[in-house]
Amino acid sequence: MRFEIVTIFPGFFSSFLENGILRRAVAEGLVEVAVHDLRAFTHDRHRTVDDRPFGGGEGMVLKPQPIAEALASLGIQPKSAPPSAVPEAPALYQGMTSVVPKLPIEKCGDSAPAETPPTVILLSAQGRPLTQSLARELALLDHIVLICGRYEGVDERINQLYCDMELSIGDYVLSGGELAAAVVIDAAMRLIPGVLGNEASSEFESFGVADTEITTNAEGVPRSQHGAGGLLDYPHYTRPAEFQGLQVPETLLNGDHQAIRRWRREQQLRKTLANRPDLVEKAALSKEDHNLLEVLRREERATSEATAPRERRAAANRP
Ligand code: SAH
Repeated sequence: MRFEIVTIFPGFFSSFLENGILRRAVAEGLVEVAVHDLRAFTHDRHRTVDDRPFGGGEGMVLKPQPIAEALASLGIQPKSAPPSAVPEAPALYQGMTSVVPKLPIEKCGDSAPAETPPTVILLSAQGRPLTQSLARELALLDHIVLICGRYEGVDERINQLYCDMELSIGDYVLSGGELAAAVVIDAAMRLIPGVLGNEASSEFESFGVADTEITTNAEGVPRSQHGAGGLLDYPHYTRPAEFQGLQVPETLLNGDHQAIRRWRREQQLRKTLANRPDLVEKAALSKEDHNLLEVLRREERATSEATAPRERRAAANRP
């Protein structure tokens, strides 16, 4: 799988590429990452990549021309016509429902096998949110181009003319797309078969497995599968068995695998209920899970009823 990054800060990626799983994946030829300095595609003395926004307002905007030239250097041409002139195209421009790359119009009908064009992604706070299931879709692609915005963002015509999707890594605003590009690469590349050293650790994160195939009947317990019909991961512990007065939960020490599995599942439900109740609603749960959930909800109600009078008294005493 090959990633191309278009950025005004190519140096940002050096430590990212030189450490951990990604470094190994690159060394083993499973992943390639090329970083392209946007300023190399400017033609003025100051290597200008930005300009003031039409219509006025704060900040600067990344100019379209250097980005178009950077993409051209990767063999990427604009879509043949702007969206308004292509009646059947709107889905392509509305955040895409699938990330399977389209064939360029001029290649349709070619008898020779056409090389699949790269999927062009614009990192943007306005984009479709990155989830584990989207990361799995991305991991199936051969070639991804990531455009990193800066300042107030990228001239919208780049999105219209070249991009297959706008992608956001979360509901907050970063100062640039570089961190987001690193997050996308990390989330996708670790799902490529062979990238994680210990395949067992990925087993329950369902590498490319359909959500419906994730089963709690496996010996282990499925781990975090945000946005993929799953729950959050259970807590992990390692040695020592006691740390600063806190003991590792007894169940994990006694070697009873069924008990460990049940304990982990319960922890998953507890944590998801506390931190991400929205995921519990979407999760594929077994009958056993539902029973456990009922117990946890009853516990929760009892705790809030016990603390509520105290809170009401405290509120009444506040000036
Ligand atoms: N004016 C924009 C924010 C621009 S921030 C807005 O309000 O939406 C500058 C750049 O940082 C963006 O062009 C984008 O590439 C990147 N960026 C910021 N937040 C991001 C997010 N949540 N996900 C992905 N990229 C983001």
